[in-house]
Amino acid sequence: MSPAGDRQARQSVIDTALKAISLGINHGAAGNFSRRVEGGFLITPSGIAYERLRPEQIVFVDFDGNAEGAWLQSSEWRMHRDIYSRHEAAGAVIHVHSTHATALACLRRPIPAFHYMVAVAGGRDIRCADYATFGTAELSSAMLAALDGRRACLLGNHGQVCFHDSLDEALTLAIEIEALASQYLAALAVGEPVIIDDAEMDRVIAKFGDYGRQPAAVDLPE
Ligand SMILES: [Zn+2]
Repeated sequence: MSPAGDRQARQSVIDTALKAISLGINHGAAGNFSRRVEGGFLITPSGIAYERLRPEQIVFVDFDGNAEGAWLQSSEWRMHRDIYSRHEAAGAVIHVHSTHATALACLRRPIPAFHYMVAVAGGRDIRCADYATFGTAELSSAMLAALDGRRACLLGNHGQVCFHDSLDEALTLAIEIEALASQYLAALAVGEPVIIDDAEMDRVIAKFGDYGRQPAAVDLPE
């Protein structure tokens, strides 16, 4: 593969963005999607509706933030770059403004262990990062703090972000985060959910497998 990524790799970024829309976890030109390639990553461009995207419009960005090509990279490229730099296992990053995750993020409410599937993000809860202006280094550092030991978090007054080994796995995780946010809000609407204790969550986390392990080998429930 050339450093800028081949056409198939670029198309896979578009396909994932389109799937996110058809699955109802993103809309319009919101959010951004990327995958790691040699020397950097391929990311969706800024402000172009995903339905109209062509492979050549996907932007290659190196780890110093230099973009290659005629199109402007997503304004949130820094979050993606910082995840790839911090987390060696990250092969793909997805950031979306999915409705329920965003609603919780607007309440600045992390998702506690109200359901054992919260462990899918890697720990006993899913944190909510402090608010900072989109596209800034401040937002990125707030995100990295919220991602410590996790592969997903909410972003205050903004949305959610997650990473995984591949685009498909990251998309599955983003869908799960949105489902958990929706279930948590539904439970909160009628009462105060019972929170699973730390010892039990640690058992669940151990059953899900070590952080970074391939999901195919993880003992995920039906
Ligand atoms: Zn955003």
